[in-house]
Amino acid sequence: MAAHSQATGHTDIEYISLRRGKRVFQLVKMNGYTYSKNTGKCGPGNLWLCSKYKRGKCPAKFRVIGDKVIYYTVNHTHQPPVLKKALDGVYQIY
Ligand SMILES: [Zn+2]
Repeated sequence: MAAHSQATGHTDIEYISLRRGKRVFQLVKMNGYTYSKNTGKCGPGNLWLCSKYKRGKCPAKFRVIGDKVIYYTVNHTHQPPVLKKALDGVYQIY
């Protein structure tokens, strides 16, 4: 777990780029798990869903308004991914 980054409250949010094949995705990393932005419009701010929301049917998600996390569930159905930062700053899952 990342223990030395700046954390606000009980969360540890980091905006990252993740490479998968030839594509690069903008994700959020929180407490070791990655989340993708929900593209549909529902409510204020941005809703972030666990990267395994669709494939793994993981229910974990949270909402960010400004720099505040106003709601989240962390009951993941899986282990956190092993992320490694490449030299160009883009993460990859191992
Ligand atoms: Zn999950």
